[in-house]
Amino acid sequence: MKSYKEVLWMEIPVRRAFINITAQVEESLEDSGIQEGLCLVNAMHITASVFINDDESGLHKDYDKWLEHLAPHEPVGSYLHNRTGEDNADAHLKRQVMGREVVVAVTEGRLDFGPWEQIFYGEFDGRRKKRVLIKIIGE
Ligand code: ZN
Repeated sequence: MKSYKEVLWMEIPVRRAFINITAQVEESLEDSGIQEGLCLVNAMHITASVFINDDESGLHKDYDKWLEHLAPHEPVGSYLHNRTGEDNADAHLKRQVMGREVVVAVTEGRLDFGPWEQIFYGEFDGRRKKRVLIKIIGE
């Protein structure tokens, strides 16, 4: 069995954003030379997500609105976590909803997606460097 690892560095200049990272994951898969196996992609930070959905800008605005409704950033004083001096309690909650990782099957050297599936990095407390882990195993 072959194993391949790559780390993507993300530095988003705003607090919240969704970034399509499908092309980078496909590049890693190509570099791995793996034809049949599994590809794991996960955010290595507890205020960011990796998830799969449609690359449609209206949907991404809907996500942001929905997440702000569930866990509004303001007032920051309403969260116990922010008593540590941080202001990112909402980002931890948003990350939990959107998830930590995805696993995609690798078939004939390609990511075996369903219709319209794309891989996204979800940032909820940006303006600093964060990492995304890509781990591919198989033959
Ligand atoms: Zn925090």
